[in-house]
Amino acid sequence: MNGKHKQPKTLQDAVIFYANPDNCLDYMVNIRWPEGVTCPTCGRTDVVFLANQRKWQCKSVHAKRQFSAKVGTIFEDSPISLEKWLVAVWMLSNCRNGVSSYEIGRTIGVTQKSAWFMMHRIRLAMQRGSFMKMGGNGGEIEADETFIGGKARNMHAATRARRIPFPGKKDDKTIAFGILERGKEIRTMVIKDRTRDTVLPLIREHVQTGTAVYTDDMSGYRSMDDEFFHGVVDHANKYVDGRIHTNGLENFWSLLKRGISGTYVAVEPFHLFRYLDEQSFRYNSRGTKKNPTSEHKRFDLAMSGIVGKRLTYAGLTGKNGEEATF
Ligand SMILES: [Zn+2]
Repeated sequence: MNGKHKQPKTLQDAVIFYANPDNCLDYMVNIRWPEGVTCPTCGRTDVVFLANQRKWQCKSVHAKRQFSAKVGTIFEDSPISLEKWLVAVWMLSNCRNGVSSYEIGRTIGVTQKSAWFMMHRIRLAMQRGSFMKMGGNGGEIEADETFIGGKARNMHAATRARRIPFPGKKDDKTIAFGILERGKEIRTMVIKDRTRDTVLPLIREHVQTGTAVYTDDMSGYRSMDDEFFHGVVDHANKYVDGRIHTNGLENFWSLLKRGISGTYVAVEPFHLFRYLDEQSFRYNSRGTKKNPTSEHKRFDLAMSGIVGKRLTYAGLTGKNGEEATF
């Protein structure tokens, strides 16, 4: 953001600052069109601002001639105002252990159900593609998996089958897999099982050959020695080698589980990857102990992911118009 405005520092500041629709619009224009507003349909730059509608109009005659700052973002087609959206993004970016849809709903004045849907769109903005391999240069990697959920719910079999990320899987326990480079970055994903065929290709995809990789002695991690410097945690004798442990990931999992069981009403296996994205986003944007990331910077980081992504209700629930159960 440019220096035009005072940047909010706390949630309280943000609630006041973004209650002003002009501040919201300025912010959106700055991140979307730093070089000037352009028509999303044809790219014309001499668009006309319609101040009373807070929209722009393109001078060429084509469909979607009038457009708002929400077009082409996760906010598109949402009747909820930017004032509410920006505060919701702020809350989800900055609440350390997550925040419930009830709390967001109360703060911004929407129903819990609307807040729940908003939060999933925001998680989509937080999702990051992985570009570079981790490790190398003496970096140390931890790889570990954990089971999440498994609460049998009274769900119709067909519904359940659809919600489970890997059809044919008998239970609704979901496995989360994480790769963490110490002092740097975490990447998380949902995996279908813990076999070598599943985990090894993921480690290969995300980690540079020759890097130190620490895991437990689960069989899926065997026979990695040719490609990685593989250290196996000896749970019987934890202190054999102080560096070989997966404590970083274990802490991450316990935070995640605390968030899911304490803050969220329930998490369907179908949606687990979005909670992983949310928790990974906060982890990766934490900054350092000496120099923790400011709330505004985290907000900026989340907002930098809003463009070019859409999440429809059907896409979210797995079926047209089906209601989420919580
Ligand atoms: Zn145009």
